[in-house]
Amino acid sequence: MQDRIDSAVADVWARLDAKSDRVVGLTSDLVRIPSVNPKFQDEPEAGREAQVQALIADELSGCDLAVSTFDALPGRPNLLAQTESVGNGERDLILCGHIDVVPVGDLREWSYGPFCGDVRNGRVLGRGTMDMKAGMACCVEALRVIREAGIALRGRVSLHSVVDEEAGGSGTKAMVRAGHLAPAAIIAEPGGDEIFISQGGLEWLRITIRGRQGHSAYRFTGMYPQPWQENPKAPPISAADLATRFLAALRDYEAANSRVKSHPMMPPGINHFGVGVVRIGAGLGEDGLPIIMSNPGIVPDVAVIDIDHKFMPHETSADIRADFEAFVSHFCATDPWLRENPIEVKWDLYDLHFPPMNTSADHELVKIVTARRASLGRPTALRGSIGVTDGAHYAVAGVQPIRYGPFGANQHAPDEWADVDSIRTTTKIFAASILDWCGVA
Ligand SMILES: [Zn+2]
Repeated sequence: MQDRIDSAVADVWARLDAKSDRVVGLTSDLVRIPSVNPKFQDEPEAGREAQVQALIADELSGCDLAVSTFDALPGRPNLLAQTESVGNGERDLILCGHIDVVPVGDLREWSYGPFCGDVRNGRVLGRGTMDMKAGMACCVEALRVIREAGIALRGRVSLHSVVDEEAGGSGTKAMVRAGHLAPAAIIAEPGGDEIFISQGGLEWLRITIRGRQGHSAYRFTGMYPQPWQENPKAPPISAADLATRFLAALRDYEAANSRVKSHPMMPPGINHFGVGVVRIGAGLGEDGLPIIMSNPGIVPDVAVIDIDHKFMPHETSADIRADFEAFVSHFCATDPWLRENPIEVKWDLYDLHFPPMNTSADHELVKIVTARRASLGRPTALRGSIGVTDGAHYAVAGVQPIRYGPFGANQHAPDEWADVDSIRTTTKIFAASILDWCGVA
């Protein structure tokens, strides 16, 4: 078996060497079709995801793959390309990449056209090269070369070309909901000399704190409680004061949490409670936000705090939620007003929720990628991912994902690029990993 695999690897690597510009050209072609996530920039010309999927389908035509598309979100298609189903599914493998990109930002900060796709000085240039059309091109090319070599696999390979990773991962969630699973997956996000085997979970949550609205003339009673409380009978209680105290307590909780929890692949403190948005005003609107945010003459009765919480790869969402809710209820227990008017916690804010990913360093796929890279003289480091990827949505469904792909720079920034040599190497590693993992008939 190993002999057959090794000769198949030698065959596809020779084919890749003979056509080493094809995957680079495909990267350029993918980058030249702007596919900005419409949740960030709603302009049809900038967000041509369907056209990117059509190009990928076209590249894979003639490879005898089952290629289909379906909308993950209205007008935003996922593409699924699969080899035939063989065996009991244990040797199936997913290759996943997202085709949406983030907006280009300030054009004046770019030294080349954001969607030029030019190849210069060993780099492919443009928005979405590193994140992650280069990785997608590697997946397509690896699959294509195996089909061109006529190799029969002992497991099914599925390419998941998904939308919407940059705004929560609706594309991959739709793939998972549709039951397109496998024991393992390669997420072709940037990696270079690193394989990312774990990543923290991410939750967005909203805190709503209620006070009592009143005239700012009585604000002083919040600092100097008066013996007479006749006018007004119910003095205002500032939601701004309550929020200030809550944020100080949250900072302590965050620090304590980061000191007692750790994971070997993650830097300490990664399990943050990032306060991203604070809105304070008067009246609670039906949208859950303060109604009046333009009149400091009112002691505000509503504070809404939106938080980005990262947790460790080995923690569960249920545990971290219970822990945090206990903290909030203990905080409220220290204050007579908050005991009667407890702070509300709402999870799944904007439906954003990335489960953690915690693939073992001993996983067979990790060993395969590491060994094939070593055979090319390239050492590999295992890492935890600080950011989150689509791997999260597979992991929660029982798939063991790893993140590995070509390297580049300036992801989500001006002058993004991907490295040509790394694109070629990664394609070889993807092809060899498919053969090693699935086996050759
Ligand atoms: Zn990405």
